[in-house]
Amino acid sequence: QEQLSNRINNLATSQTLAMAAKARELRAEGKDIIGLSLGEPDFNTPDFIKEAAIKAVNDNYNSYTPVDGYAELKDAIITKFKRDNNLTYNHSQIVVSTGAKHSLANVAMVLLNPGDEVILPCPYWVSYAEIVKLAEGVPVEVPTTVETDFKMTPEQLEKAITPKTRMIWYSSPCNPSGMVYSKEELRGLADVLAKHPDIIIVSDEIYEHINFVEGGHASMAEFEDMYERVVTVNGVSKAFAMTGWRIGYIGAPAWIARACNKIQGQITSGANCIAQRAVITALEAPVSKISHMVDTFKKRRKLIIDLLNDIDGFVTTEPEGAFYVFPNISAFFGKTIKGHKIENATDFSMFLLEEALVATVTGDAFGNPDCIRISYAASEEQIEEALKRIKEVLSEA
Ligand code: PLP
Repeated sequence: QEQLSNRINNLATSQTLAMAAKARELRAEGKDIIGLSLGEPDFNTPDFIKEAAIKAVNDNYNSYTPVDGYAELKDAIITKFKRDNNLTYNHSQIVVSTGAKHSLANVAMVLLNPGDEVILPCPYWVSYAEIVKLAEGVPVEVPTTVETDFKMTPEQLEKAITPKTRMIWYSSPCNPSGMVYSKEELRGLADVLAKHPDIIIVSDEIYEHINFVEGGHASMAEFEDMYERVVTVNGVSKAFAMTGWRIGYIGAPAWIARACNKIQGQITSGANCIAQRAVITALEAPVSKISHMVDTFKKRRKLIIDLLNDIDGFVTTEPEGAFYVFPNISAFFGKTIKGHKIENATDFSMFLLEEALVATVTGDAFGNPDCIRISYAASEEQIEEALKRIKEVLSEA
């Protein structure tokens, strides 16, 4: 008898991956699917980073690595935090993991007891709620809307806090909405958190460099009164086009870092040796080495927003970072288009896949059932063709 644990039975399947699987199925049938569903840059890892990896292989970096990361990589991370974020960390506060997803899972596992609540401003990245549930925590969703640029207000935060609140998790720049909290907005949230000193803040900054805001990126840990309570999560997947290399890291209070090191020591051991060596080179390079990718994303953002604004029924913000748009498409709910009854965002996303042959992701996956996520980590030609098809199939709505 196939008897799995409640833990796994209660876990949702990743809807982004489910959509990718459905798209693959249609492709196998010979359909020309344009994939705008995945959260992955369509660039290759820059050559200077690849060369560092090749050198590491030839230099015989093949042994187990220190559980929390090579000392030289920690040096590079510490320098990066200082250079880009004005944050001061020492070695005991850094843990390198197998992707930022792993970093987040560690943090949940070491801080949550059954029933502890974690505030998630919606929309949030798919895995947050599931990781929290795996650690027996309770996700508490705080809904935001397109009208407020998908930003949680201090009042909303205050209302969501209960005696059981253990953490708040957010990403800025945000996957999926592209929203970016300004320093002032973070201060507003910090003022509420200052009244609740036991709450830990998990600030996921993995899209830090893919940021089109004039004032740039702000980190919660920059506030002196918050520093001791913030876990700053980052990684190389997005900005360096290194999703498959699987390196993420945290800067955190030493007691939390110690606990993450301990759990990692029993489950995964240290992250991959070659990838870690390559990431030293990636992080030591000036940010200008990756700016061509950010410039490209910026151009595509303009393109996709212009095209979306040209389709009736899409209400969208101008995302300030990451590489997604998150339009509200609830205007289509209740309609029947080309024989498809659209009741919700999942129906809509599936309709786009089957009729326009464009893969997107339902907002349900991110805790927002009125929207869909469209990734613009695709070429301009693909974006143009995809939006042309979407406009065409919706002309019958
Ligand atoms: N955090 C956010 C907001 C993400 O979108 C992603 C990847 O999609 C991650 C973390 C995980 O990144 P990694 O590839 O480092 O595990």
